[in-house]
Amino acid sequence: MTVAAPPLTRIPNYINGQWQDSTANEWQDVINPATGETLASVPLSDAAEVSKAIDAAAAAYPAWRRTPPEDRIQPLFKLKQLLEDHLDELARIITQENGKTFAEAKAELRRAIENVEVACGIPMMMQGYNLEDVARGIDETMIRQPLGVVAAVTAFNFPGMIPFWFLPYAIACGNTFIVKPSERVPLTMRRTFELLERTGLPAGVVNLVNGGKAAVDTILDHPKVRAVSFVGSTPVAKYIYARAGANGKRAQCQGGAKNHVIVLPDADMKMATQIINDSAFGCAGQRCLAVSVAVTVGEAQRTFRDSITEAAASLRVGNGLDKDVQMGPVITSQSRARIESLIDRGTREGAKLLLDGRSAKVPGGENGNFVKPTVLDGVSAESDLADTEIFGPVLSLVHANNLDDALGFLERSAYGNQASLFTSSGAAARRFRYEAPAGNIGINIGVAAPMAYFPFSGWKDSFFGVQHGQGRDAVEFYTEKKVVVERWAADHSRKF
Ligand code: NAD
Repeated sequence: MTVAAPPLTRIPNYINGQWQDSTANEWQDVINPATGETLASVPLSDAAEVSKAIDAAAAAYPAWRRTPPEDRIQPLFKLKQLLEDHLDELARIITQENGKTFAEAKAELRRAIENVEVACGIPMMMQGYNLEDVARGIDETMIRQPLGVVAAVTAFNFPGMIPFWFLPYAIACGNTFIVKPSERVPLTMRRTFELLERTGLPAGVVNLVNGGKAAVDTILDHPKVRAVSFVGSTPVAKYIYARAGANGKRAQCQGGAKNHVIVLPDADMKMATQIINDSAFGCAGQRCLAVSVAVTVGEAQRTFRDSITEAAASLRVGNGLDKDVQMGPVITSQSRARIESLIDRGTREGAKLLLDGRSAKVPGGENGNFVKPTVLDGVSAESDLADTEIFGPVLSLVHANNLDDALGFLERSAYGNQASLFTSSGAAARRFRYEAPAGNIGINIGVAAPMAYFPFSGWKDSFFGVQHGQGRDAVEFYTEKKVVVERWAADHSRKF
């Protein structure tokens, strides 16, 4: 909802080491998805405000770039400790604004911290290479230099983790940084920046601007921004990749997903059920690595269908801050309406509802956006729904006669974020790893989330770019290579 005069806590921007009240004309309510309570008001900052942040980052860059890498990582060591010390507090904020459970919020913060830890290795990771005597008396060296001002635009579903796929690497490599979090979950970054403020980072090295499309477009068009990282839906990822590219910027854009899991008859069905249940319904299905289609092969059809329906039905749904709750609400009432209409469409297209989570009744959650776990059986491979990202707690079941046919489902998908296989056969696992057309592969794993020292991969419409987030890819993305070829007069060198 957009309101002209916000009555609530107005979230400021953090620009040039200062908290600054936004002068935005448009503000948006931040709503707790479990209760409907309005938590704060977020500015949709305009081009002038975002440009101020970019100018501050550009002004901070020359001195930051000249700061030795060893000194640049010292604030990250402090940040790690501050994040550890404030883990519960931050997790509570995540649950309040995003809806996921407190345990899920703590888990995402662990992944954020891992990225800080890995970026502390930048003095090693950023090194180039060299070779003496590429010709007689001539030496050649490759050095990596930072780019300058870089920015990240992030999604609502991991308010604490996703900005950390970028921030620690960007600044450790010597860049200065701007983050534009999702306007639906701005409170986590607001608190995180209060912690960043205590790390001793010089003013302008990290900046926080809140906003929507206008803020993003300013980042995309501003000549001082050298690189943009994006995480969100595929249409916006494509748009950002194209516009950043047209403006000569580097871009890495992570998009949406429709992740398949193949269950072979030789899988440990009990383990597969538990793990797939968590993957499909954890975070209310709002994970870009959530399994949303289970392809059963042969005999697995009946056994898995029965066991997953029973497991999904047993999940306790409610406010993520309540102990014992295993699944929270979806992010907005619009999102709930969209998910429910996609379930309707599935049934109209011939799928059978084994478990119906629509019109969910949750005690105390009358104003929340609850959809309970839903299982749709027999979704036709030809239907629209088969490859539409639902981004909610809905698992579709399809059946294949053999592994060839099952892999065909994955081939037909426009997305390629994750694919998983449950089996006890090494040969099947090896074939799957080799052939599955996705960037993150799970073998008897439900959410194949790469650790911080591996790239967060993604193929097809799930990723646009070359270098991914995290680890060595992040260092490649945030640095420019320079090659120096050098001759100094020496006895053995050629004389002119
Ligand atoms: P979204 O695309 O609606 O928004 C993401 C960001 O883009 C937000 O900061 C938003 O303000 C901005 N934005 C939205 N519309 C824009 C526009 N027209 N122009 C410029 N900027 C715009 O995505 P979301 O709903 O926040 O997140 C859910 C999506 O993110 C899902 O599709 C999910 O699969 C995807 N996701 C992908 C990954 C991955 O690693 N591939 C990770 C997390 C989420």
